[in-house]
Amino acid sequence: ERQWEHDYYQLMEKVARYYQQQLKAGKQGERVITYLKDRGLSGEIARDFGLGFAPDEWHSLQALFGHDQSINKALVNCGMLIEKDSNRYDRFRDRVMFPIRDRRGRVIAFGGRVIDKGEPKYLNSPETDIFHKSRELYGLYEMRQFNRKVDWAVVVEGYMDVVSLAQFGVRNAVATLGTATSSTHIQQLFRVCSKIVFCFDGDRAGRDAALRALSHSIPQIKDNREIRFMFLPDGEDPDTQVRQVGAEVFCEEAQNAPSLFDFLMEHLKSQVDMDSFEGPGKLANLAKPFIDLMTDAIHRERFIQQLSLQVGLSEQKLNALLLDPPKQQS
Ligand code: ATP
Ligand code: MN
Ligand code: MN
Ligand code: MN
Repeated sequence: ERQWEHDYYQLMEKVARYYQQQLKAGKQGERVITYLKDRGLSGEIARDFGLGFAPDEWHSLQALFGHDQSINKALVNCGMLIEKDSNRYDRFRDRVMFPIRDRRGRVIAFGGRVIDKGEPKYLNSPETDIFHKSRELYGLYEMRQFNRKVDWAVVVEGYMDVVSLAQFGVRNAVATLGTATSSTHIQQLFRVCSKIVFCFDGDRAGRDAALRALSHSIPQIKDNREIRFMFLPDGEDPDTQVRQVGAEVFCEEAQNAPSLFDFLMEHLKSQVDMDSFEGPGKLANLAKPFIDLMTDAIHRERFIQQLSLQVGLSEQKLNALLLDPPKQQS
């Protein structure tokens, strides 16, 4: 491990402690604690996730660390200070801070939310030498701390969803960090459990996110692995949903959510008019690129079997057409 990495992790840990301190004892801490309480979060959960507060100042970190050039440079490289012309100033100001930890528990980045209203609502650390969004999952470390052995995990969109679910006792949630779900995310999760439930927001963005997650998920299905897609009512997210239905119902709905293959079939069917003459043919064509992603032979066979029923062709015929489509006449 390179020396500078060691320093970066130490710096970030120190920053996280400072933000926590600002929440507990700072001048404005009370206002922020009121906000968190209003959102139903207890001090205990705030502590478990190391929540903090970045004060409404431009140079709080420089006041904390002093003017040592190499430390200042490191803070810039970690995304905590913004460098503009010859000025450096705090990236995060007047925000609730969510420290993002890697699998080993080291603070590598932050997410910051405005208190109440403001734009942008969330500000995240940029990509840095120690933070790669497409690899990291918020809450993975905390989940493992709470429970060494997890049977299944739920993937949500937001920091608040993870923390709020934990507040209600659902301790197996992780969030992607304002990016699409990547193959690496899924691989990371399958290292700790064999069942993943995606639960995105019940809005347009959430549905789009589910479709993107679908393509990355298909190649990863094998053996006893299971992926499900849970859809929330319009306008709800996991945070608001668990408040309404409670942890038990939430988990039950998650575990019984449509499987990846059922979701895929429904998604494909929703795009064609199955009663029309062309419908079944279109369905088969739409399915083809997804079937090509299926690496697991058993699941692939089974999906083709189900598709053949929908399309009204024998499995054998469908298989032949999928493998070797008739030559186009030009
Ligand atoms: P809250 O409940 O606090 O309003 P949320 O998690 O429901 O937050 P969403 O708008 O649903 O917020 O966004 C989900 C996630 O997407 C956020 O947690 C954040 O990671 C990311 N995100 C949202 N808005 C922004 C933004 N303006 N810039 C960067 N990332 C964002
Ligand atoms: Mn949303
Ligand atoms: Mn949301
Ligand atoms: Mn929300």
